[in-house]
Amino acid sequence: MSTKIFSPELEAIGIIKKDEVLANHTTFKVGGPAAYFLETNDSEIIQKAIRIANKAGLKFAALGGGSNVLVSDQGFNGLIIKISSSRCDLIDTNKLDADAGTSLAKIIRTALSQNLTGLEFAIGIPGSFGGAIAGNAGTSGHGIAEYVESLKYVDKTGVLKICDKSQLDVSYRYTRFKYTPEDIIISAILILAPAQPIESQKLVKEAMEKRSWQPKGVWCAGCIFKNPANKSAGKLIDEAGLKGKTIGGAKISEEHGNFIINTGKAKAEDIIILISFIKQQIRDQFGVQLEEEVRYLGFN
Ligand SMILES: Cc1cc2nc3c(=O)[nH]c(=O)nc-3n(C[C@H](O)[C@H](O)[C@H](O)COP(=O)(O)OP(=O)(O)OC[C@H]3O[C@@H](n4cnc5c(N)ncnc54)[C@H](O)[C@@H]3O)c2cc1C
Repeated sequence: MSTKIFSPELEAIGIIKKDEVLANHTTFKVGGPAAYFLETNDSEIIQKAIRIANKAGLKFAALGGGSNVLVSDQGFNGLIIKISSSRCDLIDTNKLDADAGTSLAKIIRTALSQNLTGLEFAIGIPGSFGGAIAGNAGTSGHGIAEYVESLKYVDKTGVLKICDKSQLDVSYRYTRFKYTPEDIIISAILILAPAQPIESQKLVKEAMEKRSWQPKGVWCAGCIFKNPANKSAGKLIDEAGLKGKTIGGAKISEEHGNFIINTGKAKAEDIIILISFIKQQIRDQFGVQLEEEVRYLGFN
């Protein structure tokens, strides 16, 4: 898809790219071009871009590390704002203030180096801090949003706002930002606890061991489905005999049923068909309705 839209005001921002292939910005390595693509963590630039996009009737959405999205083969006929930074500061004795575009890995490293505990469970989760907060990324019964004191975001009208923890609406793999990619998280403050070094090292080791099951060096987006209440989506897919099932270039991992792998030439369409197939099989065999954890971009 080539750009069908034109916004001279947006192009005047200067750092805007056109027809940027989104496959290069996702861990699935699929997805067509974004008509417009802006990479920044600067709230003023983001506010300006959103106001221009709204005036021009352009849709827009945030992108972080691209590790939990499936982008359509047609791409995104609007403006993708990729939030990118590396800022993570210690404020106070037990608080970190970081940009949304900073990698979650850097946030965890900074916490550990400052002898702060709480985030060990998230070791090994790829992507950005903002993406992790939006979807309350986590494992072992914990999610990153639990540790947020407050955050700054630019809302879909281009206004910079503050959201306190009480307004985040946190639950399993969910915050109020989960399905509103037009509300863009800019930065957040985390409250952590002072670490007992031996206890913290134990948590780090446990987190790394728990990750050893994960398929490595493959193109994927982590777990495709949320776990249904008291069940494991991966286990259901395994019990349904679906591991290894392949459609086009998309394959259910032999190692973990909840991972779909791009074997090299997958199209988003192959992955979508495989997701639908899995949902139908699990519904038919177990009467369970699976719900996606991965989010879709550019499908409507
Ligand atoms: C190998 C592998 C292992 C994984 N393991 C785990 C795991 O253990 N636990 C887990 O929870 N997840 C896991 N994931 C999924 C993924 O890494 C996390 O969900 C991650 O937090 C997504 O962050 P991201 O920056 O990549 O988000 P993206 O994929 O870029 O975006 C995801 C969604 O968040 C929105 N978004 C992104 N940034 C912002 C922002 N600044 N403001 C508002 N909205 C935003 C996007 O619009 C999109 O809707 C794994 C993925 C992979 C590939």
